[in-house]
Amino acid sequence: MEHRLPHSFLSSLEKNPDFDMDAFIEAHEKYFPVTSVRFNPQKKSNHTTSLNIAEQIPWSSAGFYLTERPSFTIDPLIHAGAYYVQEASSMFLEAVLNQTVDLNASIKVLDLCAAPGGKSTLIQSLISQNSLLVSNEVIKTRVNILSENITKWGASNVVVTNNDPSDFKKLPGFFDLIVVDAPCSGSGLFRKDPDAIEQWSLDNVNLCSHRQQRILSDIIDSLKPGGTLIYSTCSYSIQENEQISNWLIKTADFISLKINTNPQWNIMESNIENCYGYRFYPDKIKGEGFFISAFRKSGDSSVVKNECSKIKNKKSNLQLLKSTSFTKWIIENNEMVFLQWKDDVIVVPESIQYDLPVLQSALYIKKAGVNIGSIIREELIPSHELAMSTLISNTIPSIEVDLETALNYLRHESISKSFSQSGWVLLKYGGLPLGFIKAMTNRINNYYPREWRILNK
Ligand code: SAM
Repeated sequence: MEHRLPHSFLSSLEKNPDFDMDAFIEAHEKYFPVTSVRFNPQKKSNHTTSLNIAEQIPWSSAGFYLTERPSFTIDPLIHAGAYYVQEASSMFLEAVLNQTVDLNASIKVLDLCAAPGGKSTLIQSLISQNSLLVSNEVIKTRVNILSENITKWGASNVVVTNNDPSDFKKLPGFFDLIVVDAPCSGSGLFRKDPDAIEQWSLDNVNLCSHRQQRILSDIIDSLKPGGTLIYSTCSYSIQENEQISNWLIKTADFISLKINTNPQWNIMESNIENCYGYRFYPDKIKGEGFFISAFRKSGDSSVVKNECSKIKNKKSNLQLLKSTSFTKWIIENNEMVFLQWKDDVIVVPESIQYDLPVLQSALYIKKAGVNIGSIIREELIPSHELAMSTLISNTIPSIEVDLETALNYLRHESISKSFSQSGWVLLKYGGLPLGFIKAMTNRINNYYPREWRILNK
């Protein structure tokens, strides 16, 4: 069979580190789809999963290959945030984070190019509860799916923002870790999306490369001296990978970090001019094309502490709520604070309370922590975010439903079942909340967000 990869593309990869042309072409011609998921360590279902697990992804603690791709949409557990469908190679970010960052410390993290949220949900599962993750997406239409996935993941220490990378210049030395999963020419995903092959051109690779440099230049100053920068793409092109890494250590004060990998994993280490990069080729690993590199910023972090204190204590429209009337909605946790934001109540870890006004002064915040609901006549109307949060109290009335009722609920259809409870009731599937209903004497109202409802029958 004649392969569909254009000659110009293949010849541009000839000089790639560890590139095996024949094997690479074969991996594209004889493609058996590889599907993988990563489970949410904070949301363990008591259902045995309906997913057919093949084996664990060797570089991931919660990632598994599946034997086949199921219809994820009709599995209520995906809507409950029990797992995320993620390409196996990109889960290697976990190994990079483990080796370059103190994940037990209280750190501030920026995931700059975050939608739809694969890397952000992975980062969130690895950082400490006292840490802050700013999950940013510049393209407005993609922020909704990012917010949805972050909400389903159930975390309270994530702030979703919608900003251009240049806006982060207003936060000098703010972050301990920045992850840039850059927009790229996308050749690493050709096997999954053959239509994208037609879009590939050397001009586009060069355009992407310039954009990647610009994005990195924009955020360099917001990383603390001593902080870690992680750069990744799903492209095979040297111009978007090793050349960007080399440019970074030449033009800015960064050193390249070596990552230990198990030789059996077959991840290829590239080292051009003392700059390490990690390449994933589909003929060598079970997954798609990916590149990742890590850097440490040099310099003295104490200088930045002074800069940061200047932007602290900004005036904010967030008010600390002393009232305890809302505490019944969440599990007892002394490390959380309740803040009033307009008519809404949000819950965030106390440790990030003072970061919010700083972020507000520089960025457009789409969502912060867990918005547990709005106050109407001094009463809290619980939100879907609360239902999805891992903080939700287990004293809230709840009912476990079967698959059919769960899917009806997720399709935003009316629920005909009769329940003994009344008022706000959580619907659970496999022990995990799907959302609220309000049970009244003559009817049940479905509070699943309409915009998230599943559309297929
Ligand atoms: N990190 C995401 C994940 O794991 O789910 C995937 C990110 S995707 C590779 C790159 C993202 O960069 C896209 O969401 C895209 O909208 C965004 N993007 C596009 N142009 C950008 C720009 N000029 N600056 C920053 N981000 C950009």
